[in-house]
Amino acid sequence: MKYVLVTGGVVSGLGKGVTASSIGVLLKACGLRVTSIKIDPYLNTDAGTMSPFEHGEVFVLDDGGEVDLDLGNYERFLQIKLTRDNNITTGKIYQSVIDKERRGDYLGKTVQVVPHITDAIQQWIERVAKVPVDGKEGPADVCVIELGGTIGDIESMPFIEALGQFSYSVGPGNFCLVHVSLVPVLNVVGEQKTKPTQHSVRGLRGLGLTPNILACRSVKALDDHVKVKLSQFCHVPVGNIVTLYDVSNIWRIPLLLRGQNAHTAILKELDLLNVAKEPALQEWMSRADLCDNLHETVRIAMVGKYTGLSDSYLSVLKALLHASVACHRKLVVEWVPATDLEVATAKESPSAYESAWSLLKGADGILVPGGFGDRGVQGKILAAKYARENKLPFLGICLGMQIAVVEYARSILKLEDANSTEFDPDTKNPCVVFMPEGSKTHMGGTMRLGSRRTLFKDLNCKTAKLYGNVRYIDERHRHRYEVNPDMVSKLEAAGMQFVGRDETGQRMEVIELPNHPYFIGVQFHPEFKSWPGKPSAPFLGLIAASCGYLGKMLQDPDPAYLNGTRVFGNGAAPMSKVNGVYSNGNSNGNGVHHP
Ligand code: GLN
Repeated sequence: MKYVLVTGGVVSGLGKGVTASSIGVLLKACGLRVTSIKIDPYLNTDAGTMSPFEHGEVFVLDDGGEVDLDLGNYERFLQIKLTRDNNITTGKIYQSVIDKERRGDYLGKTVQVVPHITDAIQQWIERVAKVPVDGKEGPADVCVIELGGTIGDIESMPFIEALGQFSYSVGPGNFCLVHVSLVPVLNVVGEQKTKPTQHSVRGLRGLGLTPNILACRSVKALDDHVKVKLSQFCHVPVGNIVTLYDVSNIWRIPLLLRGQNAHTAILKELDLLNVAKEPALQEWMSRADLCDNLHETVRIAMVGKYTGLSDSYLSVLKALLHASVACHRKLVVEWVPATDLEVATAKESPSAYESAWSLLKGADGILVPGGFGDRGVQGKILAAKYARENKLPFLGICLGMQIAVVEYARSILKLEDANSTEFDPDTKNPCVVFMPEGSKTHMGGTMRLGSRRTLFKDLNCKTAKLYGNVRYIDERHRHRYEVNPDMVSKLEAAGMQFVGRDETGQRMEVIELPNHPYFIGVQFHPEFKSWPGKPSAPFLGLIAASCGYLGKMLQDPDPAYLNGTRVFGNGAAPMSKVNGVYSNGNSNGNGVHHP
């Protein structure tokens, strides 16, 4: 096993995750099998209890692991399926060491950060790196390890020490350290400044780690004399210094790395030059070009809780982008704060109310994503009602599906106090109820989590067709509440169809309104399995319906639509060019740049 460690210096938010994923893409294109590990030096056992509004979305894996959103980048970029253990946190390591101590495994010894924590980190990495994640047997060739945080953080010290020991024990030819740093340009003189990188490399060396490659974030490509200077002061060959300058879309980053021969530098360090092939990356190039050339828009209103951190809904955004590009449309996401749609806002802030409603009404389609807590629930219900009554394409995810059921019960069954017991424990008409296996006292890992099966009752529904006429699907879940099975027959009699259910038939997974162009709610989170070139079916349906292509897509539910080998768009789709399509990182019109 060969290891590529990616560290970050100077400031956070340099795009270390994207860099690490892109390195993986490049190595994969060289014919190598790649896996990845993300290290998060915080004390939380996992990301499950962390607020998406502070930390970004909680990504959910097949095995139910609630992990850092960077694992989503890895899955999407490398088309792999990771496990919860691919996300190491300080909490997990300490918990494992303390459990061992309680069992008496260290009997007689003083248990310390060095060597016990540092050993546990190294053993964890070695064990997890061997787990196959690409559907093939046997371990991958290369494991990309991303160390979260910035060099010098107190939290990451045990990891740095462990990784220093690790690089020594795996030996030269098996370990390559890529340090991602910043080269700022001072406005007044327009000069590319190397000092912050020099300092951060000095810090890294002081901690016992030697960088092999420098990946410098900068607005423009580094001038040659700047590279020479960095090389002299940081003791890294000029050929091993690459610039990650700003590009038009995120899919260009693997191309950017290849253009500067980053793969040759990495392969040389890993002693793999003679086994690797030249990376073609043709698909990446086509996608990146396609993304830059989309002009006709599709406008989707995202009705959620907003605090300005777009990372909170990262995978949903990505899934929308994958689907939009498959339909040859430039995605415009209109962020509609759910609370602004509520009547109370009309009094407190009429302009916010006006603007929220005009965004909603001006959209081609509406999406209500998952969520917890009652803030904005009434606004989300109003959005679902508007979509239903005005025949506007609608996709509700998890909470988005639950509120659509509540809305239907209130408006059509005339049960005015219908609600989820999450928001009104005493409602006389609970259409969404707490699941028996959940916990109200322990928040970490107590939801219905991970991949579960949904069976379609009838293949003649839109969702089954969109998934390619399949009888069942496996999608990822993350919820504590569910549609009340006792209310299902009443709701069905009134026209809402529960077309997808779990294996017991008691747990509702997919709702549809048959007499609506596209009104779908899913209890699972399809966004976690949307890959560029393989857009998630419910998202593809939403975008296709919003562009007026749904009829065509449903008439010919060729699974080729879903794997990206065929796309929709103005009649003649350039099929040869788009063999698997990718989304455009800057195409949502809101300045959001993510993979
Ligand atoms: N709060 C709801 C539940 O726990 C929905 C969760 C979600 O949207 N992820 O069931």
